[in-house]
Amino acid sequence: MPDTRYVFVTGGVASSLGKGIISASLAKLLQARGYRVTIQKLDPYLNVDPGTLNPYEHGECYVTEDGAETDLDLGHYERFLNVPTSQANNVTTGRIYQNVINKERRGDFLGKTVQIIPHITDEIKRNIKLLGNKHKFDVVITEIGGTVGDIESLPYIEAVRQLKWELGSRAIVIHLTLVPFLAASGELKTKPTQHSVKALLEIGVQPDILVLRTEKHLALDIRKKVALFCNVDSKAVIQSIDVKSIYEVPVKMQEEGLDEIVLEKLRLPIDTKPELKDWKAFLSKLNNAKKTVKIGLVGKYVELADAYKSIIEALIHAATYNDHKVEIKLFQSETIQPDQISEALKGLQGILVAPGFGHRGFEGKLAAVKYARENNIPFLGICLGMQCSVIEYSRNVLNLEKANSKEMDHTTAYPVIDLMEDQKNITDKGGTMRLGAYDCKLKKGSKAFEAYGTEQIRERHRHRYEFNNDYLQAFEEAGMMATGINPDTGLVEIVEIPKHKWFVGVQFHPEYSSTVLKPHPLFMAFIKVAIAENQNGAK
Ligand code: GLN
Repeated sequence: MPDTRYVFVTGGVASSLGKGIISASLAKLLQARGYRVTIQKLDPYLNVDPGTLNPYEHGECYVTEDGAETDLDLGHYERFLNVPTSQANNVTTGRIYQNVINKERRGDFLGKTVQIIPHITDEIKRNIKLLGNKHKFDVVITEIGGTVGDIESLPYIEAVRQLKWELGSRAIVIHLTLVPFLAASGELKTKPTQHSVKALLEIGVQPDILVLRTEKHLALDIRKKVALFCNVDSKAVIQSIDVKSIYEVPVKMQEEGLDEIVLEKLRLPIDTKPELKDWKAFLSKLNNAKKTVKIGLVGKYVELADAYKSIIEALIHAATYNDHKVEIKLFQSETIQPDQISEALKGLQGILVAPGFGHRGFEGKLAAVKYARENNIPFLGICLGMQCSVIEYSRNVLNLEKANSKEMDHTTAYPVIDLMEDQKNITDKGGTMRLGAYDCKLKKGSKAFEAYGTEQIRERHRHRYEFNNDYLQAFEEAGMMATGINPDTGLVEIVEIPKHKWFVGVQFHPEYSSTVLKPHPLFMAFIKVAIAENQNGAK
């Protein structure tokens, strides 16, 4: 297809309506029709990327194969599309301004006053078109973060206005709003949608399609009313009704004809409806699983489930393909009391200790590892969770008193987790960790090798500290083995305790690459062994 098409997704009325899921669902439907589709998120905040943000702010930081620290919506895009995203898929205002200011310093605009319009908007447009021009996608879906009317998203909407003008029928806008149900009067209200579209019109953007988030079915007369007030075809007013799982949304959107109206507006052929066979097979497993597997997730951000989004989704994928529902019990590691741990974690079939940074809740994580290790409960430690398993083992099995990670105690006598040599002189916090995909070679016969079924793997990283190889021999002699090694650097990427039923700690983040159609092998193996665990057997 010669000319890339651009679909912009904006939001109004309220935040958190699910622009990311609507974008991912539309992308899935277009992909199923044979188009090369990608999704891009434009975030209006001033951080250059979300890498330095506390997860309480925007949830998990997602990492792409090329090492970009991005918004968690990119995780949804990958889970839905099964196609990797890259640095180009997430752009923030911080990055846009940084690029423009760098160009100004280089003298690129010599003599000119540098302004929001055209310089910032041009840079936004360049970043949007990059995916079409350079990466040659047929359709680029660009989600504009925030809500229309926000001061900070104005330059983005202005860029959309300009692009619509430049690209004609190659660009369309989908506006997602909320139709609230007022219980007192028993009515669905469209006025907020009308106001929101007015706000878009004021900045010169006429939406082509409206997606209305609702908890109740929207009758035809409501859609006609919205169409009339907002200058759109009534068939371009689509309802997005609340569903139990985000994975239902592509099917719902297909029923509503979202993909067909998008193709029509973009003047692309409609042809036959894709069957979505594999996707529906997953949904049927998800909806029909009767038995439940109980997993404990131990971390310090548990009050906000979005902080562990990819882990939770990876657990759901793996449980579904093992014909189970997963009940995830979240444990705040900060409040776990080591002497009450067996009471707290009793009855779990598997324990996962989460990634993280800093002291808070650290000792609670160590206590959870100890409980899993001593009681032979399937255990998966991810990143800091893996480092915790190493520290716990060094303290309680190797008897290295107060062994620690240099991150937690830089004066420790036994730095079993230490800063990498090339990290020692780094002072900037942003974008300076070991980021992105690295090769890893697995030891034959290990649990990891059994799970992956291959010796060569490649997984994504996001950390500064590493297993300290000075202690490797002592660990192996005491029964904790390095079963995954980076072939280029010799860094330990996986540790296991072969005597244990299933105890695996990984320095990388397998959760980032679990998708609906391709559940992650480590999560699959972890859930499988957890299912085999007698629910009440755990002491
Ligand atoms: N804080 C640890 C490090 O930087 C682990 C990071 C993580 O869990 N993502 O090495």
